[in-house]
Amino acid sequence: MGSIRVLAPDVVNKIAAGEVIERPASVVKELVENALDAGATRVRIEVEEGGRKRVRVSDDGHGLAPEDLPLAFAPHATSKLAAADDLLRISTFGFRGEALASIGAVARVTILSRRRGAVEGTELTIEAGDLGETRPAAAPEGTSVEVRNLFHAMPGRRKFLRSPDVEMGHIEESVTRFGIAHPRVRFEFVADGIPRITLPPADALRERIGAFFERELVDALVEAESEDAAASFRILAAPPKFARLSLRGQFVYLNGRFIRDRVLTRAINEGFREMVPHGRYPVVFLFLGMAPGEVDVNVHPTKIEVRFRNVWRLHDRIVAALRGKLLESDLAPHLMPGAFAAAAVGGAPSPQAIVDYFARDAAPGLPGLGGAPIPLVTSGRRCFQLHDRYIVEEAEDGIRIIDQHALHERVLLEEVRRQYASADVPRQLLLLPAVVEVSSAERTRLEEHAAVLESMGLLVDDFGAGSIVVRSVPALLKDADPTLLLRDVLDRLGEHGETEKAEGHPIPMIDLLLEFIACRAAVKFGDRLSPEELARLLTDAEGMDYSATCAHGRPTAIKMTLDDLEKYFKRRGS
Ligand code: ADP
Ligand code: MG
Repeated sequence: MGSIRVLAPDVVNKIAAGEVIERPASVVKELVENALDAGATRVRIEVEEGGRKRVRVSDDGHGLAPEDLPLAFAPHATSKLAAADDLLRISTFGFRGEALASIGAVARVTILSRRRGAVEGTELTIEAGDLGETRPAAAPEGTSVEVRNLFHAMPGRRKFLRSPDVEMGHIEESVTRFGIAHPRVRFEFVADGIPRITLPPADALRERIGAFFERELVDALVEAESEDAAASFRILAAPPKFARLSLRGQFVYLNGRFIRDRVLTRAINEGFREMVPHGRYPVVFLFLGMAPGEVDVNVHPTKIEVRFRNVWRLHDRIVAALRGKLLESDLAPHLMPGAFAAAAVGGAPSPQAIVDYFARDAAPGLPGLGGAPIPLVTSGRRCFQLHDRYIVEEAEDGIRIIDQHALHERVLLEEVRRQYASADVPRQLLLLPAVVEVSSAERTRLEEHAAVLESMGLLVDDFGAGSIVVRSVPALLKDADPTLLLRDVLDRLGEHGETEKAEGHPIPMIDLLLEFIACRAAVKFGDRLSPEELARLLTDAEGMDYSATCAHGRPTAIKMTLDDLEKYFKRRGS
């Protein structure tokens, strides 16, 4: 350790870059925010090799004066904030003056800009912190910023970048977030020369949402608004049946900025409580407007997290707005049809019936659930099902309690893996092929993965007019609703890349899909098994390693040996 010294500016910038610029998608985010701050109505995003090689964002905004170009790269240089007081009134995305300086410290950046009405443009390049000459250059009105060789001089950082596919996925996510918040702005996203998302300016939010979600969902969105002195919000929520397998269908914006907030996420899920099954997340678009002083956006370098003055009040208002709307609108008949067939005979169940149904489910042992256990003998051992959830089995030297879903999933996973390895995953052709509406982004996703989908038995074709047709499904899932199946597969494809194994290697897509099939085809936690089904499951599982985990890494069974039991009941000293 030496004496205390002020860090050189290039070191400061590199440190700031570490916080602001995590991956190519962060570059895209910062550049698009600058374009929107400049009043752009058209934003074009071009990316090569997942952004590792090149990211370019061009806009038709107000541009920069030639003398401002070098300033734009200077740390803490911003045109958006003059005094600390202004922090309370910020209406732009940027104000820290950090982004361009940070990116310029870790990449080669060229900015080309022409102010509205100016006769020519100006160009300036900065490479790993070294500022070049400002030069006149031909340019359309507006600004384009090109970023090459991100983290080139920082092998440590570069190493953390994922495959181009994964990085591209993050960028697509970022473009989606902007697209939904700014319907009037035209966005184009071009990846490796191929247009991936094109969003013509839309008059209405719903129209823009329709670029990313199926028409049926958009038409079914229910809307609620709320306003008081501290905060106003508009919320669009898809009915429970559209719930997704991940949080990727939830968009929360604060004054136009995409944010993540645990309490608000909780409010959304709470608003849907008892209406969507466990493990699914409703599709919701929440647009918050807060008065200055009610929220601090300057707590996180990328501003994705903010601090509310009274987040729980907001929570309660959101829950109330959602529940009011969801229960009043005609949602009940669409609610989890299978689950309710048994609960309500004839007619749509009332909200109370829904609540009761789940309350009952959550309290095992109540009449109507348990019934007498069915003893059964497999391979000379006794077993039965309890609470429609667990199988208790007599083992040679003790007893085993099995999670029926986890075990079945494990068995099926091994089966589909075997089938896949021998290139023979049985498929079921659909007598009535299902036509499913998809967005252009979803279509691209399907096209990209067509080969792998086909190898697992899911055959889809273009149907034109924003639709695709499902021709076959994996035989194991022949009873599933093909439309829902496809939607879930699309979710999985979208998530791919975010899911990574502990060692940091992305899980191959096919593994994810095989796990998906196994999970989907397995008996559910809560399904009553017939004696035959029970016998079959245990026979299939025979020889399998019970210590093996299910596809999601949860254990499939626990075992207590007779020894353990005897110790427990103090029949024997330990
Ligand atoms: P911030 O956005 O926080 O002000 P940045 O480093 O992102 O900081 O940008 C610095 C400055 O460069 C901005 O304040 C703005 O004046 C200018 N600038 C950056 N991008 C653009 C753009 N696309 N159009 C016009 N001006 C821009
Ligand atoms: Mg900025």
